[in-house]
Amino acid sequence: MEASALAVSPCDAIAERIYEFLDGELSAEEDAEVRRHLTACASCARAATRDGAFLRVLEQRVAIDRAPPALRERLIALLAAARATAGAPGEGDEGGAGGAGSGVGGGPRRTPDWPTDPS
Ligand SMILES: [Zn+2]
Repeated sequence: MEASALAVSPCDAIAERIYEFLDGELSAEEDAEVRRHLTACASCARAATRDGAFLRVLEQRVAIDRAPPALRERLIALLAAARATAGAPGEGDEGGAGGAGSGVGGGPRRTPDWPTDPS
């Protein structure tokens, strides 16, 4: 019994590295390996495309702030799920208290519940 480390399916292995791949953090060797799998595996390729779009959204949080509230909430939820899946060491975690605070109607603008960097 020594194959436990290899018992992971290729797709799982790719999924584990997909964010690093999309971030360009993999070594050339690993990068090539992931690319090769993506060309051969439609479902992983689809996931990579989707996650790539996510990353772009992450990089442009401003876009989220300008998105309609409903869409924004969905994006934030999806991003949180993606982050949980990726098991990324959290940057600030905004404990789940979704403040449905004093909503005085009228203003299209609300204080963003997205964590903003002070710097
Ligand atoms: Zn796959």
